[in-house]
Amino acid sequence: MQLSSLLERFSEPETLKMAKLGRELRAKGIDVIDLSLGEPDFDTPQHVKDAAIKAINDNFSHYTPVAGYADLREAVCTKLKRDNNLDYKPENIITSTGAKQSLANTIFALVDDGEEVIIPTPYWVTYSELVKMARGKVVEIRTTAEAGFKVTPAELEAAITSKTKLFMFSSPCNPSGAVYSKAELTALAEVFRKYPDIYIISDEIYEYINFVGTHESIAQFDDLKDRIILVNGLSKGFAMTGWRLGYIAASTAVAKACEKLQGQFTSGTCSITQKAAVVALTGDLKPSFEMTEEFTRRRAKVMEIVKDIPGFKCFPPEGAFYIFPDVSYYYGKTDGETTITGASEFCMYLLNTAHVSSVMGDAFGEPNCVRFSFANSMNNIERAWVRIIDALAKLH
Ligand code: PMP
Repeated sequence: MQLSSLLERFSEPETLKMAKLGRELRAKGIDVIDLSLGEPDFDTPQHVKDAAIKAINDNFSHYTPVAGYADLREAVCTKLKRDNNLDYKPENIITSTGAKQSLANTIFALVDDGEEVIIPTPYWVTYSELVKMARGKVVEIRTTAEAGFKVTPAELEAAITSKTKLFMFSSPCNPSGAVYSKAELTALAEVFRKYPDIYIISDEIYEYINFVGTHESIAQFDDLKDRIILVNGLSKGFAMTGWRLGYIAASTAVAKACEKLQGQFTSGTCSITQKAAVVALTGDLKPSFEMTEEFTRRRAKVMEIVKDIPGFKCFPPEGAFYIFPDVSYYYGKTDGETTITGASEFCMYLLNTAHVSSVMGDAFGEPNCVRFSFANSMNNIERAWVRIIDALAKLH
């Protein structure tokens, strides 16, 4: 069977692959603890669920406008003003079936064959694959734990060429947990000012899960705003991964282009989700803050545990719900049966020996690191790390 060459240009998300392997072991009766997936282990807030039930009873069951209901686009504007002091109009907002689709829309709307997209490592797995699907060229900037996993203005400028179309990053970052401060964004903005043809995707999906201070968006720089595509959604901040709602705030030209693409791919996202999203975006944020308080406690617990693990170099995450330690100390070591040759073998070793799933850093462009989520109960986190420590102690 001859499938399209498109399929050969990108790979399946490593995060989903690990979750699948974990499920397979679980089906055999093995107690696998999942530290691989990126979703809050909380319930969607009650007032949001109530809004969805009302939407069903009110018969919001028809196709919606491609960009989303008018009141939803309005609600996104209200949220962006309330939380970020950003002024957008509904015509700047396109809602979608998740931040993932918003990223895909934007990349396909902007990137042509051979155009370069600068992505600092480590980055969320999907970024590079979407660029490859669009026939763009991924240009990585390797950041280090020592530099807080953040790109410096000099590194950014050195990566720019005449073919650069787009720069994309997330803050808070999945997987590193890095959060850019206003001063750091100001310094990057200075560079972008010199290159007026470069667009910037700012993925802010972990906005509310921030352990170090206020969230800063690069869209706050008015002179750059037309070139910035702010991406956000409900998955992480409202524990609504399965509901599928993402959005962009962008210039009307980019917004219209994304709407055109989405009109052929998926149309507007679920009508019920949209009605619930209006309430989530404009309603009480207390449940979101409570989730972040719990993530803060878990982060402290995990950092306390890993500080004593030999060879683990772990940057304290400033946001999101992962740690991303450098585990290369273990490369070349063996338990007598398995030799750890890289992050992939490291993760497989932990899955088979400790029955804990994690994700290899290669998938995020950083082969020395492994991602462990702390979006799991405190009890599971503690149990998982006891097992990991035991398994690592067998390696020599
Ligand atoms: N961006 C980042 C950085 C993410 O981690 C994720 C989810 N793992 C997404 C976007 C996609 O989120 P959504 O569920 O809204 O598609």
